[in-house]
Amino acid sequence: MFETLSDRLTTVFSSLRSKGRLSEADINATAREIRVALLEADVALPVVKDFIAHVKERATGAEVSQALNPAQQVVKIVNEELIQILGGETRHIRFAKTAPTVIMLAGLQGAGKTTLAGKLARWLKQEGHTPLLVAADLQRPNAVQQLQVVGERAGVPVFAPEPGSGVGDPVNVARDSIDEARRALHDVVIIDTAGRLGIDAEMMQQAIDIRDAVRPDEVLFVVDAMVGQDAVNTAQAFMDGVGFDGVVLTKLDGDARGGAALSVRHITGRPIMFASTGEKLEDFNVFHPDRMAGRILDMGDILTLIEQAEQAFDAQQAEKMTTKFVSGEDFTLEDFLEQMMMIRKLGPIGNLLGMMPGMGQVRDQVKQIDDKDLDRVAAIIRSMTPDERSNPKIINGSRRARIARGSGVQVGEVSALVTRFFEAQKMVRAMAGGMGLPGSPARRN
Ligand code: GDP
Repeated sequence: MFETLSDRLTTVFSSLRSKGRLSEADINATAREIRVALLEADVALPVVKDFIAHVKERATGAEVSQALNPAQQVVKIVNEELIQILGGETRHIRFAKTAPTVIMLAGLQGAGKTTLAGKLARWLKQEGHTPLLVAADLQRPNAVQQLQVVGERAGVPVFAPEPGSGVGDPVNVARDSIDEARRALHDVVIIDTAGRLGIDAEMMQQAIDIRDAVRPDEVLFVVDAMVGQDAVNTAQAFMDGVGFDGVVLTKLDGDARGGAALSVRHITGRPIMFASTGEKLEDFNVFHPDRMAGRILDMGDILTLIEQAEQAFDAQQAEKMTTKFVSGEDFTLEDFLEQMMMIRKLGPIGNLLGMMPGMGQVRDQVKQIDDKDLDRVAAIIRSMTPDERSNPKIINGSRRARIARGSGVQVGEVSALVTRFFEAQKMVRAMAGGMGLPGSPARRN
């Protein structure tokens, strides 16, 4: 998702790159282009208006820094404004002082509530909690059974009325589940409620009744990001009805333009807390506004990459990567290889593209890279001496020929790899510059 927006913004920024300083006309033109990009991404109009007003004000204002070039300044401002619009700080679950913490899910049918309940339960369990899932969706046939299936997959028990017991009151089920949680020492209760295809008064009343009966610590509104502008209207209706504390965006893996993500927080004043990116239980992330902004701006989502890498690798290696990026130390072929090998272990390369710095520009090319290519690249880098890896500038013609022989490839492939590496190095440097990290070329100028 966000590919169109990402591409358009990248174009806007690259047209600024050649400019020595920005005139008012430049700023107006840039603001117009950003406006079009946001509208095309389906961002709600009031949000776009506010966003553009802030960007313009800041770009013309006193805060313009001498240390950054115009393109970097605009990227910095847009990045910070995107983070704001996405909610600023990461919002974590507020756990109750006395267990159980009660989390209630609300949303339309098909939004992905039941799936989300399973994902949340699995994640909480991994975090050391002892969740209980509660089936308070007694409207939809099979809803209880569906929750039982996800509960089983997540390894989390499900509290549901006995089949055929005739118990048809979701409010009672929800209320009883709290007693059950206290009895069986569950520290979190996740209540899945009924949804309808459209908003109706009866459904909203039922959600309100459940809310009043269990007094949840968090009401989470679950919304399908693929529905675009409708997500905003639905969010507003739920805000006015049952009310909620946080938002979960689902189906972010779809080809949504991303407007919902960029609008919902601004319109409802409630933070996006989680994102769901697929049908499997592990397709679930805590929502980090800063990382999402970074991804939209195609600066790459290095933090997410590092976090995932930490799970796949030993902490030491990940720590090394983090230090490297944060210190603005130079990016070497050794890092390039290490990054590639990490990506190999992390799964299908397509899924990770959005996380690599600057990949938007080379996305189509890279989509064609498969594991075999990665093996060849690895072989080439392994045929280099440590000196060549840390200082690839010394790789001249005769060294290229030697490396090609050593790795069993054509000299042209070695050259292409070195060129590609220099590009990646430039991107990493530019990114460090954009983030205002010390030691980056932008600061040395
Ligand atoms: P509910 O009616 O709100 O409980 O929605 P469900 O949890 O039953 O989900 C509706 C459909 O959306 C199911 O087919 C899910 O597999 C699918 N789904 C849920 N979350 C995601 C997601 O993040 N990505 C994708 N692609 N599909 C999802």
